[in-house]
Amino acid sequence: MGGAVREALAGILRPWWVAAVDLLFPPRCQVCGRAGAFPVCEGCWLDFPRIERPVCQVCGRPLRGPRELVFVCVPCRRRRNRLRVRAFGRYEGRLREAVHALKYRGRLALAGPLGRALAELLVTDPLLKTPDLLVPVPLHPRREAQRGFNQAEELAREVGRYLNTPARRVLARVRDTPSQTELDEDERRRNVRGAFVVREPVRGLRLVLVDDVVTTGSTLAECAAVLQAAGAAEVVGVALAMALPQD
Ligand SMILES: [Zn+2]
Ligand SMILES: [Zn+2]
Repeated sequence: MGGAVREALAGILRPWWVAAVDLLFPPRCQVCGRAGAFPVCEGCWLDFPRIERPVCQVCGRPLRGPRELVFVCVPCRRRRNRLRVRAFGRYEGRLREAVHALKYRGRLALAGPLGRALAELLVTDPLLKTPDLLVPVPLHPRREAQRGFNQAEELAREVGRYLNTPARRVLARVRDTPSQTELDEDERRRNVRGAFVVREPVRGLRLVLVDDVVTTGSTLAECAAVLQAAGAAEVVGVALAMALPQD
């Protein structure tokens, strides 16, 4: 190979130290571990089980029917809590793995593309145009200290970067609630009652609550209730993943 060609190639190729780091720690998909893509490979990205329209106008659960359908699902018509929620995808498959990698294995780089997905969701389904603040659902301080971060806050910050909207720790969790996985909707609602307080003024503000996973929506509903009690003008919720009953 001629010197000139070699030189031209060196200009195109990445610096030697990037190559060396790649050799020692090859960039890998933080979900499936495949080498060559970081933080998420195209395969995983395409495999995320997205929630497509039509969805319930209130709870955001997918419905059957034409895309343009505007509908409120039967359980929501009976509910007193009518917080509007949207989720990017179903809490299953690759998206569940991605949430676990972010939350339990500290793969924080995933917050970038996942936060962007949430931002796109807000733009394409403009629940709340031009919110004033993004509000992550807080962890109890003890749990946050154990984990070292709050995944909802990592996501909210990324959403904020794309929407040019600040993400702030407006809420605090003052009571650590037992795990909710075994509880039904009523029990969950009782379980989170009084768990959150508002730490700064929100009067007149339009807020988007951000969480990683929504199951029955009782945590988001309780957060929204304390924000509304503190005078927030409008509150909606977004989550990366929504746990849906298998059908
Ligand atoms: Zn992957
Ligand atoms: Zn609904």
